[in-house]
Amino acid sequence: MSKRLLVHNSRVLSRTLGRRSSSSTLHSKAAPAVMNQGQSEMPECGHRPAAYEGSSYEQILKTRRDHLTPNLLAHFKKPLVIHTGHMQWLYDHEGRRYLDMFGGIVTVSVGHCHPKVNQALSEQTAKLWHTTNIYMHPKIHEYAERLVAKFPGKLKSVCFVNSGSEANDLAMLMARLHTGNQDILSFRNAYHGMSPYTMGLTAHSTWRFPLPGVNNGLVHVMNPDPYQGIWGGSACRDSPVQTTRDCQCREGCQAGDAYYNELEETFKYSLPRGKVAAMFAESIQGVGGTVQFPKGYLKRAAALVRANGGIFVADEVQTGFGRTGDHFWGFEGHDYVPDIVTMAKGIGNGFPLAAVVTTPEIAASLGQALHFNTYGGNPMASAVGIAVLDVIEEEQLQRNSLEVGTYFLKGLAELQQRFEIVGDVRGKGLMIGVELVGNREKRTPLATPHVLEIWEKCKDLGVLFGRGGLHGNVLSLRPPLCLSIGDVEFALETLEAAFKFHMSKGPRSWRNSHMMR
Ligand code: PMP
Repeated sequence: MSKRLLVHNSRVLSRTLGRRSSSSTLHSKAAPAVMNQGQSEMPECGHRPAAYEGSSYEQILKTRRDHLTPNLLAHFKKPLVIHTGHMQWLYDHEGRRYLDMFGGIVTVSVGHCHPKVNQALSEQTAKLWHTTNIYMHPKIHEYAERLVAKFPGKLKSVCFVNSGSEANDLAMLMARLHTGNQDILSFRNAYHGMSPYTMGLTAHSTWRFPLPGVNNGLVHVMNPDPYQGIWGGSACRDSPVQTTRDCQCREGCQAGDAYYNELEETFKYSLPRGKVAAMFAESIQGVGGTVQFPKGYLKRAAALVRANGGIFVADEVQTGFGRTGDHFWGFEGHDYVPDIVTMAKGIGNGFPLAAVVTTPEIAASLGQALHFNTYGGNPMASAVGIAVLDVIEEEQLQRNSLEVGTYFLKGLAELQQRFEIVGDVRGKGLMIGVELVGNREKRTPLATPHVLEIWEKCKDLGVLFGRGGLHGNVLSLRPPLCLSIGDVEFALETLEAAFKFHMSKGPRSWRNSHMMR
Protein backbone atom coordinates (compact mmCIF):
# COMPACT_ATOMS: atom_id res chain seq x y z
CA MET A 1 0.00 0.00 0.00
CA SER A 2 1.47 3.36 -0.97
CA LYS A 3 2.11 6.37 1.25
CA ARG A 4 -0.65 8.32 -0.41
CA LEU A 5 -3.19 5.71 0.55
CA LEU A 6 -2.03 5.45 4.12
CA VAL A 7 -2.40 9.13 4.81
CA HIS A 8 -5.90 9.25 3.55
CA ASN A 9 -8.96 9.81 5.65
CA SER A 10 -10.20 6.29 6.37
CA ARG A 11 -13.83 7.39 6.43
CA VAL A 12 -14.11 7.33 2.67
CA LEU A 13 -12.50 3.94 2.46
CA SER A 14 -14.68 2.28 5.03
CA ARG A 15 -17.78 3.73 3.45
CA THR A 16 -16.78 2.35 0.09
CA LEU A 17 -15.78 -1.02 1.45
CA GLY A 18 -19.05 -1.25 3.35
CA ARG A 19 -20.97 -0.65 0.18
CA ARG A 20 -18.94 -3.15 -1.72
CA SER A 21 -19.64 -6.00 0.62
CA SER A 22 -23.34 -5.22 0.91
CA SER A 23 -23.91 -5.08 -2.84
CA SER A 24 -21.71 -7.91 -4.02
CA THR A 25 -23.32 -10.79 -5.82
CA LEU A 26 -22.03 -14.31 -6.17
CA HIS A 27 -23.08 -16.22 -9.24
CA SER A 28 -22.99 -19.99 -9.44
CA LYS A 29 -21.18 -19.98 -12.79
CA ALA A 30 -18.74 -17.18 -12.25
CA ALA A 31 -16.46 -15.82 -14.95
CA PRO A 32 -12.76 -16.67 -14.54
CA ALA A 33 -10.78 -13.67 -13.36
CA VAL A 34 -8.20 -12.74 -16.03
CA MET A 35 -5.36 -10.29 -15.44
CA ASN A 36 -2.91 -8.69 -17.80
CA GLN A 37 0.84 -8.78 -17.51
CA GLY A 38 2.23 -5.80 -15.67
CA GLN A 39 -1.08 -4.86 -14.11
CA SER A 40 -0.94 -3.33 -10.62
CA GLU A 41 -2.87 -5.03 -7.89
CA MET A 42 -6.51 -4.17 -8.37
CA PRO A 43 -8.63 -3.03 -5.43
CA GLU A 44 -10.93 -5.77 -4.16
CA CYS A 45 -14.43 -5.56 -5.53
CA GLY A 46 -16.31 -8.51 -4.03
CA HIS A 47 -18.40 -9.03 -7.13
CA ARG A 48 -18.12 -12.04 -9.40
CA PRO A 49 -20.07 -11.72 -12.60
CA ALA A 50 -21.60 -14.69 -14.37
CA ALA A 51 -19.46 -16.06 -17.19
CA TYR A 52 -20.27 -14.53 -20.55
CA GLU A 53 -22.42 -16.83 -22.69
CA GLY A 54 -23.54 -14.51 -25.50
CA SER A 55 -22.58 -14.26 -29.19
CA SER A 56 -18.97 -14.85 -30.16
CA TYR A 57 -16.61 -11.89 -30.46
CA GLU A 58 -16.38 -12.47 -34.22
CA GLN A 59 -20.17 -12.53 -34.61
CA ILE A 60 -20.53 -9.26 -32.72
CA LEU A 61 -17.89 -7.64 -34.92
CA LYS A 62 -19.65 -8.92 -38.04
CA THR A 63 -23.08 -7.68 -36.95
CA ARG A 64 -21.64 -4.33 -36.08
CA ARG A 65 -19.94 -4.08 -39.45
CA ASP A 66 -22.91 -5.35 -41.49
CA HIS A 67 -25.94 -3.96 -39.67
CA LEU A 68 -25.15 -1.07 -37.38
CA THR A 69 -24.59 2.42 -38.75
CA PRO A 70 -20.97 3.29 -39.42
CA ASN A 71 -21.20 6.33 -37.15
CA LEU A 72 -20.91 4.06 -34.09
CA LEU A 73 -17.57 4.78 -32.51
CA ALA A 74 -15.55 1.86 -31.18
CA HIS A 75 -12.82 2.59 -28.70
CA PHE A 76 -9.54 0.65 -28.85
CA LYS A 77 -7.78 -1.33 -31.58
CA LYS A 78 -9.56 -4.44 -30.42
CA PRO A 79 -12.91 -3.08 -29.24
CA LEU A 80 -14.13 -4.41 -25.92
CA VAL A 81 -17.23 -6.51 -25.43
CA ILE A 82 -18.55 -5.41 -22.04
CA HIS A 83 -21.30 -7.61 -20.69
CA THR A 84 -21.57 -6.77 -16.99
CA GLY A 85 -21.09 -3.73 -14.78
CA HIS A 86 -20.92 -3.43 -11.04
CA MET A 87 -20.51 -0.02 -9.37
CA GLN A 88 -17.21 1.41 -10.72
CA TRP A 89 -16.26 -1.85 -12.48
CA LEU A 90 -16.84 -3.29 -15.94
CA TYR A 91 -16.24 -6.87 -17.13
CA ASP A 92 -15.37 -8.02 -20.63
CA HIS A 93 -16.40 -11.27 -22.28
CA GLU A 94 -13.12 -12.95 -21.38
CA GLY A 95 -13.42 -12.21 -17.65
CA ARG A 96 -11.21 -9.13 -17.42
CA ARG A 97 -12.24 -6.51 -14.89
CA TYR A 98 -11.71 -2.83 -15.64
CA LEU A 99 -11.91 0.29 -13.53
CA ASP A 100 -14.37 2.47 -15.40
CA MET A 101 -12.94 5.97 -15.32
CA PHE A 102 -15.35 7.28 -17.95
CA GLY A 103 -18.70 6.09 -16.57
CA GLY A 104 -20.36 5.50 -19.96
CA ILE A 105 -19.38 9.06 -20.89
CA VAL A 106 -20.15 10.74 -17.55
CA THR A 107 -23.48 8.95 -17.32
CA VAL A 108 -23.11 6.26 -14.69
CA SER A 109 -23.25 8.60 -11.74
CA VAL A 110 -23.99 6.35 -8.75
CA GLY A 111 -22.50 3.09 -10.03
CA HIS A 112 -23.24 0.41 -12.60
CA CYS A 113 -26.32 -1.62 -11.67
CA HIS A 114 -26.56 0.11 -8.32
CA PRO A 115 -28.82 -2.19 -6.26
CA LYS A 116 -31.11 0.59 -5.06
CA VAL A 117 -31.66 1.95 -8.57
CA ASN A 118 -32.16 -1.59 -9.90
CA GLN A 119 -34.75 -2.22 -7.25
CA ALA A 120 -36.65 1.01 -7.94
CA LEU A 121 -36.72 0.21 -11.65
CA SER A 122 -37.81 -3.37 -11.19
CA GLU A 123 -40.58 -2.37 -8.75
CA GLN A 124 -41.83 0.17 -11.26
CA THR A 125 -41.70 -2.24 -14.21
CA ALA A 126 -43.94 -4.59 -12.23
CA LYS A 127 -46.53 -1.82 -11.84
CA LEU A 128 -46.60 0.50 -14.85
CA TRP A 129 -44.20 1.17 -17.68
CA HIS A 130 -45.80 3.88 -19.68
CA THR A 131 -48.90 5.94 -20.27
CA THR A 132 -47.46 9.21 -21.67
CA ASN A 133 -48.32 12.28 -19.69
CA ILE A 134 -51.91 12.47 -20.90
CA TYR A 135 -52.72 10.69 -17.62
CA MET A 136 -51.39 11.76 -14.26
CA HIS A 137 -49.19 8.85 -13.23
CA PRO A 138 -47.82 9.55 -9.75
CA LYS A 139 -44.08 9.10 -10.29
CA ILE A 140 -43.44 12.13 -12.49
CA HIS A 141 -45.08 14.35 -9.89
CA GLU A 142 -43.09 12.85 -7.04
CA TYR A 143 -39.93 13.23 -9.09
CA ALA A 144 -40.63 16.82 -10.16
CA GLU A 145 -40.95 17.82 -6.50
CA ARG A 146 -37.67 16.11 -5.65
CA LEU A 147 -35.74 17.54 -8.58
CA VAL A 148 -36.83 21.17 -8.35
CA ALA A 149 -36.06 21.13 -4.62
CA LYS A 150 -32.42 20.96 -5.72
CA PHE A 151 -32.62 24.38 -7.42
CA PRO A 152 -32.44 27.89 -6.04
CA GLY A 153 -34.76 30.83 -6.64
CA LYS A 154 -37.37 30.68 -9.33
CA LEU A 155 -36.01 27.59 -11.06
CA LYS A 156 -39.07 25.53 -10.23
CA SER A 157 -40.58 24.34 -13.50
CA VAL A 158 -39.34 21.14 -15.11
CA CYS A 159 -39.88 19.52 -18.49
CA PHE A 160 -38.61 15.94 -18.80
CA VAL A 161 -37.09 14.68 -22.06
CA ASN A 162 -34.81 11.79 -23.00
CA SER A 163 -31.36 13.08 -23.95
CA GLY A 164 -29.01 16.00 -23.55
CA SER A 165 -29.50 17.13 -27.15
CA GLU A 166 -33.26 17.16 -26.66
CA ALA A 167 -32.89 19.15 -23.45
CA ASN A 168 -30.72 21.75 -25.19
CA ASP A 169 -33.04 21.84 -28.21
CA LEU A 170 -35.89 22.66 -25.88
CA ALA A 171 -33.86 25.29 -24.06
CA MET A 172 -33.04 26.97 -27.40
CA LEU A 173 -36.70 26.93 -28.32
CA MET A 174 -37.78 28.36 -24.97
CA ALA A 175 -35.13 31.09 -25.11
CA ARG A 176 -36.24 32.22 -28.55
CA LEU A 177 -39.94 32.08 -27.73
CA HIS A 178 -39.54 33.80 -24.38
CA THR A 179 -37.30 36.67 -25.53
CA GLY A 180 -38.63 37.04 -29.06
CA ASN A 181 -34.98 37.18 -30.16
CA GLN A 182 -33.15 34.81 -32.47
CA ASP A 183 -29.40 34.89 -31.80
CA ILE A 184 -27.81 32.45 -29.39
CA LEU A 185 -24.21 32.47 -28.22
CA SER A 186 -22.04 29.52 -27.27
CA PHE A 187 -18.33 29.04 -26.76
CA ARG A 188 -15.92 27.75 -29.34
CA ASN A 189 -14.96 24.30 -28.05
CA ALA A 190 -18.43 23.76 -26.56
CA TYR A 191 -20.41 20.55 -27.02
CA HIS A 192 -24.16 20.82 -26.57
CA GLY A 193 -25.47 17.96 -28.71
CA MET A 194 -25.80 16.53 -32.18
CA SER A 195 -29.41 17.24 -33.15
CA PRO A 196 -29.72 19.54 -36.17
CA TYR A 197 -30.54 22.42 -33.78
CA THR A 198 -27.80 21.83 -31.20
CA MET A 199 -25.14 20.85 -33.75
CA GLY A 200 -24.95 24.57 -34.45
CA LEU A 201 -24.30 25.35 -30.80
CA THR A 202 -21.58 22.71 -30.67
CA ALA A 203 -18.38 24.35 -31.84
CA HIS A 204 -15.93 21.62 -32.78
CA SER A 205 -15.27 21.13 -36.48
CA THR A 206 -15.04 17.40 -35.82
CA TRP A 207 -18.67 17.25 -34.67
CA ARG A 208 -20.24 19.33 -37.40
CA PHE A 209 -21.75 18.13 -40.66
CA PRO A 210 -21.45 20.44 -43.67
CA LEU A 211 -25.13 21.32 -43.96
CA PRO A 212 -26.72 24.65 -44.78
CA GLY A 213 -28.55 26.32 -41.92
CA VAL A 214 -26.70 24.61 -39.09
CA ASN A 215 -25.41 27.95 -37.84
CA ASN A 216 -28.59 29.87 -38.33
CA GLY A 217 -28.82 32.49 -35.58
CA LEU A 218 -25.81 31.12 -33.71
CA VAL A 219 -22.59 32.91 -32.81
CA HIS A 220 -19.53 31.19 -31.32
CA VAL A 221 -17.60 33.38 -28.95
CA MET A 222 -13.98 33.14 -27.83
CA ASN A 223 -13.45 30.32 -25.38
CA PRO A 224 -12.18 31.63 -22.05
CA ASP A 225 -9.64 28.83 -21.67
CA PRO A 226 -6.87 29.75 -19.20
CA TYR A 227 -4.60 26.92 -20.41
CA GLN A 228 -4.85 26.87 -24.22
CA GLY A 229 -6.39 30.30 -24.79
CA ILE A 230 -4.63 33.58 -25.55
CA TRP A 231 -4.83 34.65 -21.91
CA GLY A 232 -4.33 32.61 -18.81
CA GLY A 233 -2.38 32.50 -15.60
CA SER A 234 -1.64 30.52 -12.51
CA ALA A 235 -4.66 31.49 -10.44
CA CYS A 236 -7.58 31.62 -12.88
CA ARG A 237 -9.23 28.32 -12.15
CA ASP A 238 -11.44 27.03 -9.40
CA SER A 239 -9.39 23.86 -9.06
CA PRO A 240 -6.79 22.39 -6.68
CA VAL A 241 -4.38 22.43 -9.66
CA GLN A 242 -3.54 25.53 -11.71
CA THR A 243 -1.94 26.00 -15.11
CA THR A 244 1.83 26.29 -15.45
CA ARG A 245 1.38 29.73 -17.04
CA ASP A 246 2.65 32.87 -15.30
CA CYS A 247 0.31 35.30 -13.70
CA GLN A 248 0.81 39.03 -13.33
CA CYS A 249 -2.45 39.60 -11.52
CA ARG A 250 -2.29 41.48 -8.26
CA GLU A 251 -5.99 41.35 -7.65
CA GLY A 252 -8.83 40.01 -9.75
CA CYS A 253 -8.09 37.96 -12.85
CA GLN A 254 -6.64 39.73 -15.86
CA ALA A 255 -7.31 36.77 -18.12
CA GLY A 256 -10.95 36.73 -17.00
CA ASP A 257 -11.20 40.48 -17.75
CA ALA A 258 -9.63 40.07 -21.18
CA TYR A 259 -12.00 37.25 -22.15
CA TYR A 260 -14.95 39.23 -20.86
CA ASN A 261 -13.90 42.22 -23.00
CA GLU A 262 -13.85 39.88 -25.99
CA LEU A 263 -17.41 38.85 -25.22
CA GLU A 264 -18.41 42.51 -25.11
CA GLU A 265 -16.86 42.91 -28.57
CA THR A 266 -19.17 40.19 -29.87
CA PHE A 267 -22.13 42.11 -28.54
CA LYS A 268 -20.79 45.27 -30.15
CA TYR A 269 -20.07 43.83 -33.58
CA SER A 270 -22.05 40.65 -34.18
CA LEU A 271 -25.43 41.04 -32.51
CA PRO A 272 -28.33 43.36 -33.09
CA ARG A 273 -28.30 45.68 -30.06
CA GLY A 274 -30.50 44.44 -27.24
CA LYS A 275 -31.47 41.42 -29.26
CA VAL A 276 -29.87 38.28 -27.97
CA ALA A 277 -32.01 35.27 -27.11
CA ALA A 278 -29.54 33.33 -24.96
CA MET A 279 -26.04 32.27 -24.17
CA PHE A 280 -25.27 28.62 -23.41
CA ALA A 281 -22.35 27.48 -21.27
CA GLU A 282 -21.24 24.24 -19.71
CA SER A 283 -20.01 24.85 -16.17
CA ILE A 284 -16.86 22.93 -17.13
CA GLN A 285 -16.53 21.97 -20.79
CA GLY A 286 -16.74 18.21 -21.01
CA VAL A 287 -16.24 16.94 -24.55
CA GLY A 288 -13.98 19.97 -25.11
CA GLY A 289 -11.46 18.45 -22.69
CA THR A 290 -12.45 19.50 -19.15
CA VAL A 291 -11.89 23.19 -19.78
CA GLN A 292 -12.52 25.45 -16.81
CA PHE A 293 -13.22 29.15 -17.20
CA PRO A 294 -11.64 31.95 -15.19
CA LYS A 295 -13.38 32.53 -11.89
CA GLY A 296 -16.13 35.11 -12.13
CA TYR A 297 -16.39 35.03 -15.92
CA LEU A 298 -19.74 33.24 -16.23
CA LYS A 299 -21.37 35.48 -13.64
CA ARG A 300 -20.39 38.58 -15.61
CA ALA A 301 -21.34 36.98 -18.92
CA ALA A 302 -24.81 36.14 -17.57
CA ALA A 303 -25.31 39.76 -16.49
CA LEU A 304 -24.22 41.02 -19.92
CA VAL A 305 -26.59 38.64 -21.71
CA ARG A 306 -29.51 39.70 -19.51
CA ALA A 307 -28.71 43.37 -20.05
CA ASN A 308 -29.06 42.68 -23.77
CA GLY A 309 -32.46 41.06 -23.57
CA GLY A 310 -31.35 37.42 -23.34
CA ILE A 311 -31.37 34.59 -20.86
CA PHE A 312 -28.53 32.39 -19.67
CA VAL A 313 -28.56 28.62 -20.04
CA ALA A 314 -26.32 26.37 -17.94
CA ASP A 315 -25.69 23.04 -19.64
CA GLU A 316 -25.23 20.73 -16.66
CA VAL A 317 -25.33 17.55 -18.72
CA GLN A 318 -21.86 16.58 -17.47
CA THR A 319 -21.36 18.76 -14.41
CA GLY A 320 -24.62 18.19 -12.55
CA PHE A 321 -25.62 15.82 -9.75
CA GLY A 322 -22.68 16.43 -7.48
CA ARG A 323 -19.95 15.62 -9.98
CA THR A 324 -17.89 18.73 -9.28
CA GLY A 325 -17.88 17.89 -5.58
CA ASP A 326 -18.22 21.25 -3.91
CA HIS A 327 -21.72 21.85 -5.23
CA PHE A 328 -24.61 19.85 -6.58
CA TRP A 329 -24.68 21.95 -9.78
CA GLY A 330 -21.63 23.23 -11.59
CA PHE A 331 -23.07 26.74 -11.99
CA GLU A 332 -23.11 27.15 -8.19
CA GLY A 333 -19.31 27.05 -8.30
CA HIS A 334 -19.46 30.10 -10.60
CA ASP A 335 -21.64 32.01 -8.15
CA TYR A 336 -24.56 32.79 -10.46
CA VAL A 337 -28.04 31.46 -11.07
CA PRO A 338 -28.94 30.69 -14.69
CA ASP A 339 -32.40 31.14 -16.22
CA ILE A 340 -32.51 27.64 -17.66
CA VAL A 341 -30.59 24.53 -16.61
CA THR A 342 -30.35 21.50 -18.89
CA MET A 343 -29.36 18.08 -17.58
CA ALA A 344 -28.98 14.51 -18.80
CA LYS A 345 -26.46 11.65 -18.38
CA GLY A 346 -25.88 11.37 -14.60
CA ILE A 347 -29.53 12.17 -13.89
CA GLY A 348 -30.53 8.62 -14.85
CA ASN A 349 -27.35 6.59 -14.17
CA GLY A 350 -27.67 5.23 -17.72
CA PHE A 351 -31.44 5.26 -18.10
CA PRO A 352 -32.49 7.57 -20.98
CA LEU A 353 -33.64 10.57 -18.99
CA ALA A 354 -32.99 14.29 -19.28
CA ALA A 355 -34.63 17.50 -18.13
CA VAL A 356 -34.93 21.25 -18.58
CA VAL A 357 -35.50 23.26 -15.43
CA THR A 358 -36.48 26.90 -15.69
CA THR A 359 -38.68 29.60 -14.23
CA PRO A 360 -42.47 29.39 -14.60
CA GLU A 361 -42.37 32.54 -16.77
CA ILE A 362 -39.91 31.07 -19.26
CA ALA A 363 -41.68 27.71 -19.23
CA ALA A 364 -44.94 29.50 -20.09
CA SER A 365 -43.47 30.33 -23.52
CA LEU A 366 -44.21 26.74 -24.53
CA GLY A 367 -47.91 27.54 -24.21
CA GLN A 368 -47.78 29.29 -27.59
CA ALA A 369 -48.35 25.97 -29.37
CA LEU A 370 -48.81 22.34 -28.47
CA HIS A 371 -45.60 20.79 -27.17
CA PHE A 372 -45.37 17.10 -26.53
CA ASN A 373 -42.79 14.47 -25.64
CA THR A 374 -43.94 10.83 -25.63
CA TYR A 375 -41.46 9.32 -23.18
CA GLY A 376 -40.18 12.27 -21.13
CA GLY A 377 -40.45 11.47 -17.43
CA ASN A 378 -42.35 8.24 -17.93
CA PRO A 379 -42.93 6.08 -14.82
CA MET A 380 -39.73 4.05 -15.26
CA ALA A 381 -37.57 7.11 -15.93
CA SER A 382 -39.05 8.95 -12.96
CA ALA A 383 -38.58 5.98 -10.63
CA VAL A 384 -34.93 5.78 -11.67
CA GLY A 385 -34.47 9.55 -11.29
CA ILE A 386 -35.81 9.47 -7.73
CA ALA A 387 -33.60 6.52 -6.80
CA VAL A 388 -30.51 8.29 -8.19
CA LEU A 389 -31.24 11.35 -6.04
CA ASP A 390 -31.74 9.08 -3.02
CA VAL A 391 -28.44 7.29 -3.55
CA ILE A 392 -26.49 10.53 -4.05
CA GLU A 393 -27.86 11.75 -0.73
CA GLU A 394 -27.69 8.52 1.27
CA GLU A 395 -24.18 7.63 0.19
CA GLN A 396 -22.95 11.22 0.28
CA LEU A 397 -21.60 10.88 -3.19
CA GLN A 398 -21.13 14.61 -3.70
CA ARG A 399 -18.82 14.68 -0.70
CA ASN A 400 -17.09 11.53 -1.92
CA SER A 401 -16.59 13.22 -5.28
CA LEU A 402 -14.96 16.20 -3.60
CA GLU A 403 -12.68 14.17 -1.32
CA VAL A 404 -11.68 11.46 -3.77
CA GLY A 405 -11.52 13.91 -6.68
CA THR A 406 -9.26 16.34 -4.81
CA TYR A 407 -6.99 13.48 -3.80
CA PHE A 408 -6.92 12.31 -7.41
CA LEU A 409 -6.09 15.79 -8.73
CA LYS A 410 -3.18 16.09 -6.31
CA GLY A 411 -1.85 12.69 -7.33
CA LEU A 412 -2.11 13.66 -10.98
CA ALA A 413 -0.28 16.90 -10.26
CA GLU A 414 2.57 14.78 -8.87
CA LEU A 415 2.66 12.82 -12.12
CA GLN A 416 2.72 16.11 -14.00
CA GLN A 417 5.91 17.03 -12.12
CA ARG A 418 7.57 13.86 -13.33
CA PHE A 419 6.31 13.47 -16.88
CA GLU A 420 6.68 16.33 -19.29
CA ILE A 421 3.99 14.96 -21.57
CA VAL A 422 1.48 15.92 -18.88
CA GLY A 423 0.95 19.55 -19.84
CA ASP A 424 -2.02 20.30 -17.64
CA VAL A 425 -4.13 18.73 -14.91
CA ARG A 426 -7.45 20.38 -14.18
CA GLY A 427 -10.97 19.97 -12.96
CA LYS A 428 -12.96 19.67 -9.77
CA GLY A 429 -14.37 16.72 -7.91
CA LEU A 430 -14.59 13.73 -10.22
CA MET A 431 -14.61 15.82 -13.39
CA ILE A 432 -10.92 15.78 -14.28
CA GLY A 433 -8.82 16.33 -17.39
CA VAL A 434 -5.19 15.43 -18.04
CA GLU A 435 -3.91 17.20 -21.14
CA LEU A 436 -1.07 15.39 -22.89
CA VAL A 437 1.33 17.62 -24.82
CA GLY A 438 4.21 17.18 -27.23
CA ASN A 439 5.84 20.40 -26.13
CA ARG A 440 5.08 21.74 -22.70
CA GLU A 441 6.20 25.29 -23.35
CA LYS A 442 4.17 25.66 -26.52
CA ARG A 443 1.33 23.54 -25.13
CA THR A 444 1.10 21.65 -28.43
CA PRO A 445 -1.12 18.56 -28.26
CA LEU A 446 0.68 15.23 -28.03
CA ALA A 447 0.43 13.55 -31.44
CA THR A 448 -2.53 11.19 -31.69
CA PRO A 449 -0.56 7.92 -32.11
CA HIS A 450 1.25 8.65 -28.85
CA VAL A 451 -1.96 9.49 -27.02
CA LEU A 452 -3.52 6.29 -28.31
CA GLU A 453 -0.55 4.24 -27.18
CA ILE A 454 -0.89 5.52 -23.62
CA TRP A 455 -4.64 5.14 -23.63
CA GLU A 456 -4.50 1.57 -24.96
CA LYS A 457 -1.85 0.66 -22.42
CA CYS A 458 -4.05 1.90 -19.59
CA LYS A 459 -6.84 -0.30 -20.91
CA ASP A 460 -4.48 -3.29 -21.05
CA LEU A 461 -3.53 -2.57 -17.44
CA GLY A 462 -7.15 -2.49 -16.34
CA VAL A 463 -8.26 1.16 -16.45
CA LEU A 464 -10.62 2.67 -19.02
CA PHE A 465 -10.15 6.40 -19.55
CA GLY A 466 -12.10 8.64 -21.90
CA ARG A 467 -10.53 11.14 -24.27
CA GLY A 468 -11.64 14.67 -25.00
CA GLY A 469 -10.55 17.97 -26.52
CA LEU A 470 -10.53 18.96 -30.16
CA HIS A 471 -7.38 16.88 -30.71
CA GLY A 472 -8.42 13.99 -28.47
CA ASN A 473 -5.31 14.53 -26.33
CA VAL A 474 -7.02 15.15 -23.01
CA LEU A 475 -7.66 12.11 -20.85
CA SER A 476 -11.17 12.46 -19.46
CA LEU A 477 -11.66 11.14 -15.94
CA ARG A 478 -15.36 10.97 -15.05
CA PRO A 479 -15.87 7.76 -13.06
CA PRO A 480 -18.98 6.80 -11.14
CA LEU A 481 -19.10 8.96 -8.02
CA CYS A 482 -18.61 5.95 -5.75
CA LEU A 483 -14.91 5.79 -6.71
CA SER A 484 -12.66 5.06 -3.73
CA ILE A 485 -9.17 6.21 -2.78
CA GLY A 486 -7.92 2.69 -3.42
CA ASP A 487 -9.26 2.96 -6.97
CA VAL A 488 -7.47 6.29 -7.39
CA GLU A 489 -4.20 4.66 -6.29
CA PHE A 490 -4.71 1.95 -8.86
CA ALA A 491 -5.51 4.49 -11.60
CA LEU A 492 -2.43 6.59 -10.74
CA GLU A 493 -0.14 3.55 -10.76
CA THR A 494 -1.62 2.52 -14.09
CA LEU A 495 -1.09 5.94 -15.62
CA GLU A 496 2.48 6.03 -14.37
CA ALA A 497 3.14 2.60 -15.86
CA ALA A 498 1.59 3.66 -19.18
CA PHE A 499 3.69 6.84 -19.34
CA LYS A 500 6.85 4.86 -18.59
CA PHE A 501 5.96 2.20 -21.14
CA HIS A 502 5.34 4.88 -23.73
CA MET A 503 8.72 6.46 -23.15
CA SER A 504 10.58 3.18 -23.05
CA LYS A 505 9.48 2.26 -26.55
CA GLY A 506 12.28 2.56 -29.03
CA PRO A 507 14.27 5.64 -30.00
CA ARG A 508 11.92 8.44 -30.85
CA SER A 509 12.98 12.03 -31.28
CA TRP A 510 10.94 13.27 -28.32
CA ARG A 511 11.86 10.39 -26.03
CA ASN A 512 14.28 11.92 -23.55
CA SER A 513 12.80 15.37 -23.35
CA HIS A 514 9.58 14.04 -21.88
CA MET A 515 10.89 12.55 -18.66
CA MET A 516 11.77 15.34 -16.27
CA ARG A 517 13.25 13.21 -13.55
N1 PMP B 1 -24.35 18.66 -23.48
C1 PMP B 1 -23.18 18.18 -23.03
C2 PMP B 1 -22.34 19.04 -22.14
C3 PMP B 1 -22.76 16.91 -23.38
O1 PMP B 1 -21.57 16.46 -22.94
C4 PMP B 1 -23.58 16.12 -24.21
C5 PMP B 1 -23.16 14.71 -24.61
N2 PMP B 1 -21.84 14.42 -24.61
C6 PMP B 1 -24.79 16.66 -24.65
C7 PMP B 1 -25.15 17.92 -24.26
C8 PMP B 1 -25.69 15.85 -25.54
O2 PMP B 1 -26.26 14.80 -24.83
P1 PMP B 1 -26.87 13.53 -25.59
O3 PMP B 1 -25.73 12.75 -26.18
O4 PMP B 1 -27.60 12.80 -24.50
O5 PMP B 1 -27.79 14.05 -26.62
